[in-house]
Amino acid sequence: MPPSLDHLERTVVAPAIIAGVGVHTGQRVRLSVRPASSGSGITFVRSDITDRDNRIPVSGEAVIDARLNTMIENAAGVRLSTIEHLMAAFCALGVSNAVVEVDGPELPILDGSALPFVQLLDRAGFRRQEAPLRYIEILQPIRVVDGDKSAALLPCDRYEMRFEIDFPTPVIGNQVVDFVVDEATFRSEIMAARTFGFAHEVEELRRAGLARGGSLENAVVIDGDHILNPEGLRMEREFVRHKALDAIGDLYVLGAPILGRYEGVRAGHAVNNKLVRALLAQPNAWRETILAPQLAQVG
Ligand SMILES: [Zn+2]
Repeated sequence: MPPSLDHLERTVVAPAIIAGVGVHTGQRVRLSVRPASSGSGITFVRSDITDRDNRIPVSGEAVIDARLNTMIENAAGVRLSTIEHLMAAFCALGVSNAVVEVDGPELPILDGSALPFVQLLDRAGFRRQEAPLRYIEILQPIRVVDGDKSAALLPCDRYEMRFEIDFPTPVIGNQVVDFVVDEATFRSEIMAARTFGFAHEVEELRRAGLARGGSLENAVVIDGDHILNPEGLRMEREFVRHKALDAIGDLYVLGAPILGRYEGVRAGHAVNNKLVRALLAQPNAWRETILAPQLAQVG
């Protein structure tokens, strides 16, 4: 389970910066991640907005739109979208507290995976804090269903995830991943999986003024029964691995890693946020837990 056996909060050591285009606006944005004090959580700051409160602390309630990506908003109506891949990196690398400054309305899409964000955090370095890490321990199963999509959280003594997708195109078909959500597994099997879309959907999004920054540089694009990207896939089952990556980020808006098992079937950001809200609405189904540090094995 993330982050390490000390079960303490972590932040970054020093600021680190990355820049890229937003997938929907096509606008170039600069993002910097900075250390934050223990207990403060993840806070995004829209540095391009100066006439009202530009800080957006992450929480389950701050998520306002999750159709295409995860968008958050503060009480002053300041919004930021596409936070999920960075949130997944924070979760897997055990970062509890950080300030993320962005000078535009969405995070850069970069290569469409969490890999560049993991590299950003590696550059920033990690610092252990004194406060014990709070886990969200699942006590009773919680399930949300939306048509043929569903997501559930079940009791489990570690953070596990199972994700299943089913697409009629032979390029994807039926794919399943089932793994322990920890830093090593995230780095080796999940972080590099890219977002994906279908050529006809990209056309529709463009007509709606979206996906302006979308390209074969930051998404796997499927047209009928073939992949348009000349380089092909980065790994087998890249599609379902990316859905799992999204789910890790979508759940981390809770502000703490899960001690439980997540199971998603075709679930997108909207279903994941429905699950987060269902959890928050059922205080008997979970509790905050602190785990004792484990002594290092000697010999
Ligand atoms: Zn994604």
